[in-house]
Amino acid sequence: MHFIGAHVSASGGLENAPRNARALGATGFALFTKNQRQWSAAPLTAAQIDAFRRACDEGGYTAAQILPHDSYLINLGHPDDAALEKSRTAFDEEMKRCELLGLDRLNFHPGSHLRTIAEEASLDRIAASINRALERTQGVTAVIENTAGQGSNLGYRFEQLAYLIDRIEDRSRVGVCIDTCHAFAAGYDLTTAEACRRTFEAFERTVGFRYLKGMHLNDAMKPCGSRVDRHAPLGEGAIGLDCFRFLLTDPRFEGIPLILETPDESRWAAEIALLKSFAEGR
Ligand SMILES: [Zn+2]
Ligand SMILES: [Zn+2]
Repeated sequence: MHFIGAHVSASGGLENAPRNARALGATGFALFTKNQRQWSAAPLTAAQIDAFRRACDEGGYTAAQILPHDSYLINLGHPDDAALEKSRTAFDEEMKRCELLGLDRLNFHPGSHLRTIAEEASLDRIAASINRALERTQGVTAVIENTAGQGSNLGYRFEQLAYLIDRIEDRSRVGVCIDTCHAFAAGYDLTTAEACRRTFEAFERTVGFRYLKGMHLNDAMKPCGSRVDRHAPLGEGAIGLDCFRFLLTDPRFEGIPLILETPDESRWAAEIALLKSFAEGR
């Protein structure tokens, strides 16, 4: 089954995320487990954990249907040692929060070299950061998201994702999340079923579907190869609907959270219904 949802709000309590997802008719969801614009958060209480788990049960959401996302402040490839340490500490905490909440994966953007060190040196820092977090936690897979390659963000080529995976000690706990807008902005054509077939053939060859632990389904405002990260509502961008029809009828994308991060929240219920209709062959 294709698990379809959106990155919903958890404001007012983490248990509101599964409730918000359910109200959209979603079979999956993404959330921040803390304020994404702050470095730290108060530790989770037993009551908070319990409320979240109960709401997930009520909504019928298992860990495989949930894709938590880490804070935007974290840069695991930071060129400066002190700043890197701050990011690593925050990332370890995010992984720990997922473990406590019974979640089995954490989605994050790999990091940026900030034009200070070489791409490879920054990628090596990212790999070391992931290894450290995996050593300090249990049961949570680190899910590296591909990026649009905007600014000095790394992870815009499938080869860079493979480079990171190669350097992870426990490969049973590393995965990737492919964002359609980011892949397209990075130069991977997704505009037709045939283009999607070729792009995901390259993905299989370079990374491998066994590492695919989630997807972000976004149309793109800017053209293929623009390296600009601007999401558009499904069918209203440069990618178009054929890509999403392809994903929702291909069994390789079943069993993982497929998450909308499209700009207009008021359209999420309709976008989810549209994706479901694709999956049902309508
Ligand atoms: Zn994304
Ligand atoms: Zn994006």
